[in-house]
Amino acid sequence: MYDYLIAFGGNVGSTHGNPPETMQAALQTVVERGLRIVDQSRIFRSASFPDPTGPEYANGVFWLRDEREPEDVLSILHGIEADFGRERVSRWGERIVDLDILSCDDLVRPDLKTWRDWRDLPFERQTRETPDRLILPHPRLQDRAFVLVPLMDIAPDWRHPVTGHTVRQMHADLPEKLRNDVKPL
Ligand code: ATP
Ligand code: CA
Ligand code: CA
Repeated sequence: MYDYLIAFGGNVGSTHGNPPETMQAALQTVVERGLRIVDQSRIFRSASFPDPTGPEYANGVFWLRDEREPEDVLSILHGIEADFGRERVSRWGERIVDLDILSCDDLVRPDLKTWRDWRDLPFERQTRETPDRLILPHPRLQDRAFVLVPLMDIAPDWRHPVTGHTVRQMHADLPEKLRNDVKPL
């Protein structure tokens, strides 16, 4: 059995409603697809990133327990993204729901060197380059208030397998301004 932490978010409405309503519908779909949610955070809103003038995001995290391998869980999550995205993708050209695997137990994938390379990717390259295979833990986890603030709800004591930092420490290390920009609905 693996314990997974998953992040979800979106800033475009769907037939399910506005972004927070769409996030609720996405969670329901996760359960319908046979994934077992152990706990979930509140839903938060935060400014669009990197362009703060874009539509506001709704974000949250949840904890899954599953015997499936990370690649199989990711492909289920991608299926859900596709099903939600299809509704309006041609009109908006944006994803309605993004589901990322933050962690799976204390696995580091595909290996420490590759993980470090992605973690240390300069910001300018982060906007252009996406990995073609699963990287665990998610290489941007420690940078993102919209991930760490919701994680404080359900997994403050989770410890990063490479850095040894807990969610509580990573959250405290964020600039205060970034932390305060993520607000509960
Ligand atoms: P970011 O990963 O920085 O949040 P993004 O979510 O917008 O960016 P996507 O376009 O959704 O990026 O994902 C690009 C690819 O990243 C996916 O096809 C997936 O194979 C890969 N990937 C690598 N590691 C992960 C992970 N931990 N969770 C989800 N996708 C991942
Ligand atoms: Ca993402
Ligand atoms: Ca993603």
